[in-house]
Amino acid sequence: MPELPEVEHVRMQLRHKVVGKTIDSVEIFHNKTVAFDESVEDRLINKTIEDIDRIGKLMIFSFENENDLFLLAHLKMTGQFFYVDKQGDVAGGGHTFTKVDLDLPTRHTRVTFHFTDHTALHYNDMRLFGYTKLATAAEVAEAREKFGPEPIDDEFDCDWFGETLRKRKTSVKAALLDQSFVAGLGNIYVDEALWRAQVRPTRRANRVTKAEAAALCAAGSVMKESIAVGGTTFQHFKDTGGENGNFTDYLQVFGQQGTKCSRCGSTIKKIRCAGRGTHYCPGCQK
Ligand SMILES: [Zn+2]
Repeated sequence: MPELPEVEHVRMQLRHKVVGKTIDSVEIFHNKTVAFDESVEDRLINKTIEDIDRIGKLMIFSFENENDLFLLAHLKMTGQFFYVDKQGDVAGGGHTFTKVDLDLPTRHTRVTFHFTDHTALHYNDMRLFGYTKLATAAEVAEAREKFGPEPIDDEFDCDWFGETLRKRKTSVKAALLDQSFVAGLGNIYVDEALWRAQVRPTRRANRVTKAEAAALCAAGSVMKESIAVGGTTFQHFKDTGGENGNFTDYLQVFGQQGTKCSRCGSTIKKIRCAGRGTHYCPGCQK
């Protein structure tokens, strides 16, 4: 499942390709992927994509001269977006793909947005957990309210983060995974950030010191670094150029159980915490 850095990477890539394009037709291959909404095509024809925004892992397409019409898209487990230009060159991302997936549309293509310039954007989803769905401005605002600020945002407030974290009674790992507190941190990045800050995942959030909270906030940069190199790819992610993202090379604890910690030489452990497989160093994470 793509985490936030991967979704952000796909979003940035697609923005370059589809912003300014006008929808000529919408071909629906599976109704579930458009939330069983038969009005999708009628409502999107002749609309020009203005931007692609994002809330957490939800992508939000907006349209020129439309203040109350948005298209939400979520990749969930196996979703992929592929843009095909006039020459047949493909750019896309999401779930891991092979050459067969690039002969578009494929049997897993669920909806295709054809543009007036004869290019197209295909949404593939093998397991059908993902969706594309029309939304009003009020619905977008409602979705936005469910998410806290993102550590990758330049405006992210470390003082606020520390104060709020230190009032929580759950494990620090559970607190960081709570999307209504901070948005976008998934399992991999929480483990990596906790290792960087030298805080054990099982520690109660209200026992984290001010200095540790500040270190954790600084460790949020792990996500920015990951976006810069294309994210992690060992699960289901390939970036829009079809290249492997290579943040996996930088992982210090996630998936490293049994190996030696690069900071202190202790053996990395894997436990269950906050319902998730959790990796940490018992030597230097207190
Ligand atoms: Zn260590």
